[in-house]
Amino acid sequence: MNTETKTIRVREIDIAIVRKPIKNLHLGVYPPSGGVRVAVPLAISDEAVRLAVIDKLGWIKRQREKFTNQSRQTLREMVSGETHYVEGCRYRLDVLESDQRPSIKRRRNQILELSVKPGTSSDKRESILYEWYRELLKERVPPLIEKWEAALGVELSEWRIRKMKTRWGSCNREARRIWLNLELAKKPPLCLEYVILHELVHLLVRHHNDAFTGLLDKHMPLWRQHKAELNQAPLRQEHWER
Ligand SMILES: [Zn+2]
Repeated sequence: MNTETKTIRVREIDIAIVRKPIKNLHLGVYPPSGGVRVAVPLAISDEAVRLAVIDKLGWIKRQREKFTNQSRQTLREMVSGETHYVEGCRYRLDVLESDQRPSIKRRRNQILELSVKPGTSSDKRESILYEWYRELLKERVPPLIEKWEAALGVELSEWRIRKMKTRWGSCNREARRIWLNLELAKKPPLCLEYVILHELVHLLVRHHNDAFTGLLDKHMPLWRQHKAELNQAPLRQEHWER
């Protein structure tokens, strides 16, 4: 499909505009941080998009607020019964208290057992979980980087896992370094692999142009699906007529 992406800024909010051969505008607020994307028909001007977005600004702000409140809630309490995701699967958190070193175990692919000392705060429990996510990525990432370095004929000098608010990954071409979002530990393995491939392709092609998507098509024909899955489950979406 013929698409073109650009970003405009409306009242301090970055809006990604994706032009496609479609009939109506589709507006969505997406994870991980409430990014706003609007898909629009090819013939609509930036100015018309800007006006349409301003018209929906109240709605966008409400969705973004809900989003931050929601992630705060689910992340902060860290009590038994909460849902947490690991590698694309849904787990029920089970908090146990013990005097052993804190640990996390996956049970029957359904239960995430967090064992902590009595009286451990929610914040501390959360940081134990995130440390575990980080360790998980440290295991998963190196073989994938090796695989795709070989396939693309590139070499990284460094990679890091970071907490990032607005991006799943980033690439510093000069330093030949990529950063991966810690939140990727929650996503299906193929989504993680797509982000790694995407960032490595940036060592060869800076922009998201035809050469870039051509390489993705060649090496990972289903990349659009993985990308969509990564950004799926927007809080809410809205469609409106032109
Ligand atoms: Zn990119």
